[in-house]
Amino acid sequence: MSSSTPAKPAKPATAASAEAAKAKAATARKEPKAESHLAMVRRARRINRELAEVYPYAHPELDFRNPFELLVATVLSAQTTDLRVNQTTPTLFAAYPTPEDMAAAVPEEMEEIIRPTGFFRAKTKSLLGLSAALRDEFGGEVPGRLEDLVKLPGVGRKTANVVLGNAFGVPGITVDTHFGRLVRRWKWTDEEDPVKVEAVVAGIFPKSEWTMLSHRVVFHGRRICHARKPACGACPIAPLCPSYGEGETDPEKARKLLKYEMGGYPGQRLSPPADYPGKPAPALGAG
Ligand code: SF4
Repeated sequence: MSSSTPAKPAKPATAASAEAAKAKAATARKEPKAESHLAMVRRARRINRELAEVYPYAHPELDFRNPFELLVATVLSAQTTDLRVNQTTPTLFAAYPTPEDMAAAVPEEMEEIIRPTGFFRAKTKSLLGLSAALRDEFGGEVPGRLEDLVKLPGVGRKTANVVLGNAFGVPGITVDTHFGRLVRRWKWTDEEDPVKVEAVVAGIFPKSEWTMLSHRVVFHGRRICHARKPACGACPIAPLCPSYGEGETDPEKARKLLKYEMGGYPGQRLSPPADYPGKPAPALGAG
């Protein structure tokens, strides 16, 4: 005769244990499981798709007509707004349309022209060195390779990527202050170093998306997801954002924080692309 051990009877639920179980479940609900890398990548790609719908017209916000103008405008954009650069470059390019002309400029005259962009002495020095290098080493043309661009005076990786992506069609990720802030809010990475951020983001998206992704993220940072007061209550990607609530969540108040075309104001370019739905920016001193 086989004798099987009788199963231990389940402990009768006491009021205390039921309470403990309830508390445990509540804690589990409050602490969502850490997101897997795959889930983060999927969410990141969804954010990019949503942003593409919100900003189908995303573009570089510097006015330029050729690679030289874009390079110069990008150098000038350090520590100032694209708007201020765009208001300054028409006079600058009228005076010095080519690298040869710019390399031969009288420094004090150039300083006067670019004074509104700030740091005008250092920037003049960079532009003189830059245009002389283009004239002497690259036959007066802007080179289309990263390794050549970063050797030019005043040109770092960020500037080089802007020029490559927008004047040469070479995919590039531009990590500026907006891009870094937003990807950290979205928990794509915790990295602070722009080169590391660039590497992480490059691993999430195919190359073909890099340039437009950069524009969309920067557009979002400038219009909705501001540094100090993000307009969370008016943010179309709020359901995908782990930092929702960092800014204003009241829809009415949030809407008042929107900038440029999103808030009904002029944009930063004096000559925006034809599909830009906002108003062009005013010339210097006009508003
Ligand atoms: S929800 Fe808030 S923090 Fe998140 S992207 Fe939108 S504005 Fe930025």
